[in-house]
Amino acid sequence: MALIVQKFGGSSVSDAESIKRVAKRIVDTRKAGNEVVVAVSAMGDSTDELLDLAHEVTPIPAPRELDMLLTAGERISMALLAMAIKSMGYDARSFTGSQAGMITDAQHGAARIVDVTPGRLRDALDDGAIVIVAGFQGFNRDTRDITTLGRGGSDTTAVALAAALGADICEIYTDVDGIFTADPRVVPRAHKLDRVSSEEMLELAAAGAKVLYIRAVEYARRHGVTLHVRSSFNNNDGTIVYNNSTPDVNGDPVEEPIIAGVAADLSEAKVTVVGVPDVPGKAAQIFKIVAKTNANVDMIVQNVSAAATGRTDISFTLPKSEGQQVLTALKNEQENVGYLGLQYDDQIGKLALVGAGMRTNTGVSAKLFEALFEAGINIEMISTSEIRISVVTRADTINEALRVVHTAFGLDDDNEAQVHGGTGR
Ligand code: ASP
Ligand code: MG
Repeated sequence: MALIVQKFGGSSVSDAESIKRVAKRIVDTRKAGNEVVVAVSAMGDSTDELLDLAHEVTPIPAPRELDMLLTAGERISMALLAMAIKSMGYDARSFTGSQAGMITDAQHGAARIVDVTPGRLRDALDDGAIVIVAGFQGFNRDTRDITTLGRGGSDTTAVALAAALGADICEIYTDVDGIFTADPRVVPRAHKLDRVSSEEMLELAAAGAKVLYIRAVEYARRHGVTLHVRSSFNNNDGTIVYNNSTPDVNGDPVEEPIIAGVAADLSEAKVTVVGVPDVPGKAAQIFKIVAKTNANVDMIVQNVSAAATGRTDISFTLPKSEGQQVLTALKNEQENVGYLGLQYDDQIGKLALVGAGMRTNTGVSAKLFEALFEAGINIEMISTSEIRISVVTRADTINEALRVVHTAFGLDDDNEAQVHGGTGR
C-alpha cells in the first residue's frame, strides 16, 4: 500500500462543486488502494478576502490575531472536503495544523516548521480513514498560539506531512498541467517539463516562478520528498520534481537538457548608492547597514571607479516591500559611509534563465544577451550562479524578454499551453 500526500490549492476548491470534484479525486486515489493524506488551502481567494477585512478593521492588525483569522480559511475548506468525502461512503477526518502536529517557531505570519508529530494522522490512517489537514498553519509550543507559514504555505504543509509520514509521493494539484518552461500566461508556447531537478526548481522558484513555493521545494530537497506537480482539472501526468532519493531517476542515462526554464520577477527594486569612496571597507559598511534591516538583497553590482573622483557606484536589488526601510537606514548613515547620494528604482524586472546543463555548456550567456539585444531590450545588471543567469531590465520589457529568450533557447512548443483557471497561484 502506498501513502500519497495530495495538496489542493485555493483555486481547486473555490466552491461547492469543485470541492466535490476534488473529493471524488481523493476517493479515487483511495479506491486504487492507497493511503491518502490531503493538505488543503482556503477556498478561492478567501485568504485575501480575510486579509482585506482585517485591514478594514485596523491598518496594522495584531500578528497573533491575524493568524487566528487567516487559519479560519483552511478550517472551512478542510471540513467541507471531509464532509464531501464522507458523503461518498468513505471515512474522512479533518485536522487543524495543531491537531496534525505541525509544530512551528513563534513567528506569526512567517512561522517555520520545527517538528511534525503526526501521531493522530497515523492513527486515523490505521483506522482506514482519509486524512484532511488544514494547510498553511501550525502551532508553537512555547506561546501555545496558532501560527501561519507565510502566503502559499499549504505547499510546505504537504511536503512536511509527506516527509514526516514517509509518503511515497507528494502530489501538488494546481490549475496548470505541471511546471512549464515559462509562465504559460505570459509565454503561451511554454511547454510542460516531464521532470525537473529540485535544484533547478529552487532556482526557478527563487527567480519568481509561482507554481511552487520556494520553502516547500527547499523542504522537499532537504528531506528527500519527491513532488509531482499536476493539474486538478485532468488526469494527465504533470511534472516530477526529483532529488537524490527519488527512485528510478538517478540511474537514468538521459542527458539533462541545458535549460529547464525562464522565470521573471517584478517584485524587486534597485537601490544605487552613488559616489561611494573607493576604499576598502565601504561595501562591508553599506551591506552591514542593509543587513540590519533584514532585507533580502539579491544582485549586487559595483562599477569601476572613476579615476578622477576615486568614487564608485554600488547597486543592488531587493524586494520592493523592503525598499523604504533600507533607504532610511542608509540615509541615516550617509555621513559615516561618505557616499554622495541614493537612487531608488522600482520599475525593474528580473529575468532568470535556469538549467543544470549550464555547468557543462558554454555560450549560454552570449545567446541570452544576443536574444535580448535583437529585441532591443537593454540589460541593466547581470548576475550568475552555476545553473542560473539573471538579468535586470525595465519592468515593461520583461514579458517580451521572457518570450524572446524562450524562443532563442528552442523552448517553444508547437501548441499553446492550456491554463485551466485561477490567477497563477
Ligand atoms: N491560503 C493560504 C494563502 O492563500 C495558503 C495557501 O494557499 O497555500 O496564502
Ligand atoms: Mg490560497
